[in-house]
Amino acid sequence: MNGWLYRGRFAPSPTGSLHFGSLVAAVGSYVDAHAHGGSWLLRIEDLDPPRETPGAADDILHALESCGLLWDETVVYQSQRLEAYHAALGQLLLDGHVFPCACTRKEIADSVLEPDKTPVYPGTCRDGLPPGRTTRAYRLRISDETFVFDDRIQGRVRQELAKDVGDFIVQRGDGCIAYQLAVVVDDAWQGVTDIVRGADLLDSTPRQLYLQRLLNVPTPRYAHLPLALNGQREKLSKQTLAPPITAYKEAVYEALTFLGHQPPISMRGAAPAELLAWAIANWDPAQIGKEHEVAVL
Ligand code: GLU
Repeated sequence: MNGWLYRGRFAPSPTGSLHFGSLVAAVGSYVDAHAHGGSWLLRIEDLDPPRETPGAADDILHALESCGLLWDETVVYQSQRLEAYHAALGQLLLDGHVFPCACTRKEIADSVLEPDKTPVYPGTCRDGLPPGRTTRAYRLRISDETFVFDDRIQGRVRQELAKDVGDFIVQRGDGCIAYQLAVVVDDAWQGVTDIVRGADLLDSTPRQLYLQRLLNVPTPRYAHLPLALNGQREKLSKQTLAPPITAYKEAVYEALTFLGHQPPISMRGAAPAELLAWAIANWDPAQIGKEHEVAVL
């Protein structure tokens, strides 16, 4: 595609080894980047030590290499980028978009009328901390508008942030910078033009669009891939005990098949790099399903 500057990325959190669900996001973002003559960057999102597994980042790097998914440029580690996140947070505070919040998780959960729903922040500290309370977290003040964007795979997506999410956390009570803020700062800093990732992040995108506007950085194009589910229709993850990838050739073949690009049967057993080259030459995002699918593993 001529003249379309393309910088894509894969941004795994090192909570465990690469499993089929994360491989699908890696393969989808890699092939899309290369099919557009773009570059593909790797960022390890190691901002949440309590959820991380020692050695997982190196395991992921090794599995990606074994799958022929070679990244361009130096790997970025979010744990090395704290200064940039604090600078962005400072700017948002100064501009009055962020406010300190004293509420505990329990206080927010108690305010919810429908217990099964993720609690929407009730606005308790929006206009100042209640007397005698101290700051725990920092939240972003949400505007009352409908966010709309056109996803390359999922089509038009709308969300009313005020109703569906509320003022959301940008720095947690334990001091960790929230994913939503870090991802926006880094995608802008790395000049990412195209985000291809799992559809579990579809409903985070409007929060990211809003942060991009407030931080005055460009909005990338988005393509949210169908999610791989297990037999119980759960997202594959460490929590649902998704097995790590070990049979690399087979896994790449299956990931491409899952994304609507099954290589010819004669290529079964081919090296991952050959499978990826075939996919780059035959890439047509219209072939990617929208729906979440059960992965046959
Ligand atoms: N680190 C996030 C995850 O592993 C993905 C972030 C993104 O692609 O925006 O779920």
